[in-house]
Amino acid sequence: MKASLDQVITRLREANRALVVGHIRPDGDAIGSVAALTLILRKLGIAAEGCIPDHIPWFYREIQGTRIIRSVAELRGKGFDTAVVLDASDISRIGEAAQLLPGREPDVVLDHHVTNTGFGALNLCLPNYAATAMIVHEIGKRLVPYDRELAEVILLGIATDTGFFKYATVDDRTFAVAAELARHGARIQPIASAVLEHRTPKTIRLLVDMFRTLRLEAGGKLAYAYVSAEMLRRAGCGEEETEGFVGEIRALHGVEVAILFTEWPEGEVHVSLRSKAYVDVSRIARALGGGGHPRAAGCTLHVPRLRDAIARVVEAARVALLE
Ligand code: 5GP
Ligand code: MN
Repeated sequence: MKASLDQVITRLREANRALVVGHIRPDGDAIGSVAALTLILRKLGIAAEGCIPDHIPWFYREIQGTRIIRSVAELRGKGFDTAVVLDASDISRIGEAAQLLPGREPDVVLDHHVTNTGFGALNLCLPNYAATAMIVHEIGKRLVPYDRELAEVILLGIATDTGFFKYATVDDRTFAVAAELARHGARIQPIASAVLEHRTPKTIRLLVDMFRTLRLEAGGKLAYAYVSAEMLRRAGCGEEETEGFVGEIRALHGVEVAILFTEWPEGEVHVSLRSKAYVDVSRIARALGGGGHPRAAGCTLHVPRLRDAIARVVEAARVALLE
């Protein structure tokens, strides 16, 4: 059911043992939001645990507050009376964490994806918010005093989901919240350093390999590249080390739609879609079983060959560019 902020706050206050869950293939908004709401609930005296149901890229751990996040395995058998899902547009996005829910559906879902399916008992989805962390902040600022640790994980979510304050989703409110968080001690520098400056020699080599596969179409408006399972193995990289790669493709002058195909594990292809100014890539992703935002979306295809996934998605992107 569609819920108001007040209804969500009332429900959260009723919790005794709360589970706070983010999504698989976590990004800074999922990680920052989960850490932040867990800290907020603990400040209220609620026994809260934060969970990310997937591997967390190592560099996020450089932000202090993220270290309270646990894996599904660490939380099995804990017993929760309340489950809150953050930044996930449908239930499949929480992966194995679904097994930890006390009921059949999450008690509260807080999200900002236009493609959100409304899968919570209470569902608060605000697509005009630049990050789920902004929604968590709306709740937190009404309930608890802030310290640096809390302010900084919220800033992590906002900074990463706005491309460090450069997407069209950024407005005066985004800067106002960032200023509030800075007043509470949040520092943008360690966040930027962790998220934007974590490349290692092997990820650079992988990036070079990816750029060797770059193709341009539609007069340079469509750009795509891939990272195959074989390329990952050769570089000695995990799949999460392609973080930020699709942004490098979109960075090409004149590109409107950028696509990165990551084959991992074999038989599965994760598709990352980005656009710059006008193409709604969330529609492309949704049509393929995924979801996301107008300028950043994704889906996972189960296909025997990487090139089958490429052919399907590139065709959909060509059509979207013509519309
Ligand atoms: P990324 O390309 O970085 O994996 O994801 C970009 C955006 O699309 C994020 O907002 C993410 O939550 C969403 N997204 C990525 N993959 C999927 C998917 O398989 N299903 C859904 N519903 N959303 C996805
Ligand atoms: Mn988000």
